[in-house]
Amino acid sequence: MRIGAIEAGGTKFICGVGNEHGEITDKISFPTETPETTVQRAIDYFRDKRVEAIGIGSFGPIDIDRDSSRYGYVTTTPKPGWSNFNFLGAMKEAYDVPYGWDTDVNAAAFGEAAWGAAKGLDSCAYFTIGTGIGLGVFAEGALIHGLVHPEGGHVYVRRHAEDTFEGACPFHGDCLEGLAAGPAIEKRWRTKGQELAPDHPAWRIEAHYIGQAVVNTILMLSPKKVILGGGVMKQAHLFPMVRQEVQKGLNGYVKTEALLTDIDHYIVPPGLGDNAGLCGALALGLAAMK
Ligand code: ADP
Ligand code: ZN
Repeated sequence: MRIGAIEAGGTKFICGVGNEHGEITDKISFPTETPETTVQRAIDYFRDKRVEAIGIGSFGPIDIDRDSSRYGYVTTTPKPGWSNFNFLGAMKEAYDVPYGWDTDVNAAAFGEAAWGAAKGLDSCAYFTIGTGIGLGVFAEGALIHGLVHPEGGHVYVRRHAEDTFEGACPFHGDCLEGLAAGPAIEKRWRTKGQELAPDHPAWRIEAHYIGQAVVNTILMLSPKKVILGGGVMKQAHLFPMVRQEVQKGLNGYVKTEALLTDIDHYIVPPGLGDNAGLCGALALGLAAMK
């Protein structure tokens, strides 16, 4: 089987081809420019690939309501040119194949459930902590959609006692993304996250916020696995700190081995590594064929 996959990020696009086992056999990456030039590059990539379906995990917000007249659109993004762009429509015009279409984070959650850290489980939550913060949720064997789609990156969190940074979210100021995404770290410390030493106070504050987001997710959705991806989570030392914050936050209230004694296997990095998004798009394409 040959399935096409597009991980459409706000910074870069990754296009690939894979099979029903989640194996990526070919991929390319290029920067996200105007919608027309970027989508044309994706179309050109698939020209000689003979794919049977295409899955797209896209940055957003996007319209994933099949009954909406704007299904397949990128909706209100501040990214120049992309607001109200009919992404799926442009792809469909080029290739008449079944399409899977969802948010980039839902795709990553789906990929992790198919072949990654949540393989064999019927639920997981996937946070990406990078330029923004996004949450994808797979529950009872399906991705959560609803009114629009979950936007768990913008939940409110209690401030760390030593944090005086005002927050960087253009909509909410000090929501989770405004306090803990990569650009917030950079603004607060005037240094990029990748340049801060593991013992820098930044990471205590960061773990405090991510820990609360995970606590809230556990309390609200009870996922069987929590996966933390994105550039900021490349800081491997954050994992034990976040797990500790989660145990502190829950304070023994949720009594399950996964949280009390086996949390190292409960809050984990993506099993598919940097391929989580692309494999997720592949899984969406595969699901669209069924
Ligand atoms: P995007 O979200 O644009 O797809 P990333 O997930 O790489 O891309 O996120 C980029 C953000 O993450 C930037 O703000 C960057 O400073 C931060 N970042 C990237 N790599 C690291 C790292 N190794 N440690 C800490 N922060 C990082
Ligand atoms: Zn926000």
